[in-house]
Amino acid sequence: MMNVLVLNSGSSSLKFQLIATDLDRIQHDADERLCRGEVERIGGEAIITVQMRNGPRQKFTASLADIPAALDYLVRWIASDRSGIKEVQTLADIGAVGHRVVHGGEMFAESVIITDEVLKKIEDCIDLAPLHNPNNIKCIVAARQIFGPKLPQVGVFDTAFHQSIPEPAYLYAVPYHLYRRHHIRRYGFHGTSHRYVAYRYRVLRKLTREQTHVITLHLGNGCSAAAIRGGCSVDTSMGMTPLEGLVMGTRSGDIDPAIVNLIATKEGLSTHQVDALLNTQSGLLGISGLTNDMRVLQQELREHDDRRVRLAIEVFCYRARKYIGAFLACMGGADAIVFTGGIGENSADIRARICAGLEWAGLRLDETRNQQMVGVEGEISSSDSSLHAYVIPTDEELLIARDTVRCILGEPHPS
Ligand code: ADP
Repeated sequence: MMNVLVLNSGSSSLKFQLIATDLDRIQHDADERLCRGEVERIGGEAIITVQMRNGPRQKFTASLADIPAALDYLVRWIASDRSGIKEVQTLADIGAVGHRVVHGGEMFAESVIITDEVLKKIEDCIDLAPLHNPNNIKCIVAARQIFGPKLPQVGVFDTAFHQSIPEPAYLYAVPYHLYRRHHIRRYGFHGTSHRYVAYRYRVLRKLTREQTHVITLHLGNGCSAAAIRGGCSVDTSMGMTPLEGLVMGTRSGDIDPAIVNLIATKEGLSTHQVDALLNTQSGLLGISGLTNDMRVLQQELREHDDRRVRLAIEVFCYRARKYIGAFLACMGGADAIVFTGGIGENSADIRARICAGLEWAGLRLDETRNQQMVGVEGEISSSDSSLHAYVIPTDEELLIARDTVRCILGEPHPS
């Protein structure tokens, strides 16, 4: 049995989970989540939120200057008497660290043990994810310093699952030398989430990996769709960066690329500023002018029927439906649509709006099942639906912990 510390580091936040697992527990779906939490506002007076097993949330603050300081604080807290985690009395009780790494470029099609060579390759991918990979690297280096070089660390890449996407689906129709010179192509993200829910789907339906043909919709703050054929990703909506594809909380998703230049000229902005506008001021927030939070938008729609709020929700759902149609065509039909992410798992209304008008494809939602399936796993389509629909809460951390154990033991880690 191994206690795996799962880390997901952002620019000013560090999310973590401590999961006890081994091959037997993986097999029986009996992994144990000992603790989870987040350090926010790293760089100043940081806020640390932790939750033991299913206990209440605790909050405290500490002055933490950077990611290494945050990780050091966190690890010492976990191993201290204060945490009450009886499985971890000293640092030696943590058997491995699993890191979520955003971009693995074309170098990583699966999770790997982080060696010096791997770390160098992750550094080589910084150009592709300048905002994300540097934080992941800092976190890996900090963990090495805290635990020593002998502790195994594993990298689990957001892009890895999508490395099976074939050339016609990942190449953009720009001059080919740009792909050669700058690696400009579709990579896709949320791979660990898409892979996890596709895996859960096949467990629920008792299918083999080869029999798994689904479209997965990860609808959270970031949103993406994946076409999964024979258990492998064959297309996805996010592209070179997470900006492409579905409408998201603050990201535009697909736009005509000529708009960038047009906005820059008309608004007197640099292309960097337009990029920021498309990433942080657009999507649900941009159209509604109110918020990126779908729950608030839905409440606003119910109470005030605001026109722009309604539009934001309509554009969001329309785009998702459009991708479902496109992916059905690309992958020659699918057996199911799987909803996940904060919106996908919790909002029966959004799911119903997305699925409305997909009867031609054989999809019929069961209204009662749809309403009941909030934050839990289960089917939401009716018995006569030939295209099924499921809600499956994602669990990227669990998959990271499992991959970590499997990598260390040299076991294959299929999706
Ligand atoms: P992240 O992508 O940051 O992990 P989440 O997956 O938690 O985010 O998704 C956040 C989104 O989920 C927000 O837009 C939030 O409003 C939405 N959400 C959460 N619960 C509900 C709900 N019950 N109804 C509608 N939207 C919800």
